[in-house]
Amino acid sequence: MSSAVIKIIDNKSKSDGGIVTIAAVVSNIQEINKLTPKRGDLNRALRKRQILVSDDSGHSIWISLWNALAEKWSYKVGEIVTFSNFKIRIFNNCRSLTSLSFSAVSIQNMSGKERDTFLNLATKAQPIDGYLSIKELKANASDIEQFAWIKANILSFSIDGFYEGCVVCQKKKVSADCLTCTNVTKSEVKLLATMYVEDGVDSLKVRMFSDCVESLTDLSIEKLKERETDHPSICSKLANQIVAMRLKYKQSTYCEQEFIDVIALKANRDS
Ligand SMILES: [Zn+2]
Repeated sequence: MSSAVIKIIDNKSKSDGGIVTIAAVVSNIQEINKLTPKRGDLNRALRKRQILVSDDSGHSIWISLWNALAEKWSYKVGEIVTFSNFKIRIFNNCRSLTSLSFSAVSIQNMSGKERDTFLNLATKAQPIDGYLSIKELKANASDIEQFAWIKANILSFSIDGFYEGCVVCQKKKVSADCLTCTNVTKSEVKLLATMYVEDGVDSLKVRMFSDCVESLTDLSIEKLKERETDHPSICSKLANQIVAMRLKYKQSTYCEQEFIDVIALKANRDS
């Protein structure tokens, strides 16, 4: 048994804890994150995978898949998938869907014109919670990690460099086991970039990793590595472009200075 399929936008009229079923196209798949219990064994760690989906209502939403659903996930970006019986979660005014023990994921068979129309409307999807202004984001910041979408103008963009990083947490690795994830994880070449953005009222410093840099520059990490001498011109082309970003942010302290640590999880140029 599954609840009737609704559009992503219709989640807006439902409350925290509601159970819904949606059919949506996958647009971003994050690696599994292991949430290790403070003490105790790794086998009991919760596994969480976050994916971003959008539908023909022109809205997108993040979905958290837990444990077996996170591990069995086999769908690709661009596939249309049905998410049955997921729970609505509203946290810090951010709406997402989260899997329960009886949630299910299956491919949605859609073909021809219906599929084309669906994908076309889903491509330009806006986040269901709308965008925060930079001022609102700064006012919201606390020592608890929060998430938001912003839309802003790029003032400057710089590629800081390549490093060998953990595929799970992105942090720099010096040995097979990741100091942050506290177990053995795969490594890959990663890229770090810093950008400053403004929205007419306030400005913000945002750090970002490989995926976001690839999406903003339209170049793969391999190409970016090959073309290191072109980095200044690749970066300057991004100035004055409008970018829509999903951000993770938190109030932090460094050398007794308070600042807001902002990392982009997804970044797209907005036309
Ligand atoms: Zn790690």
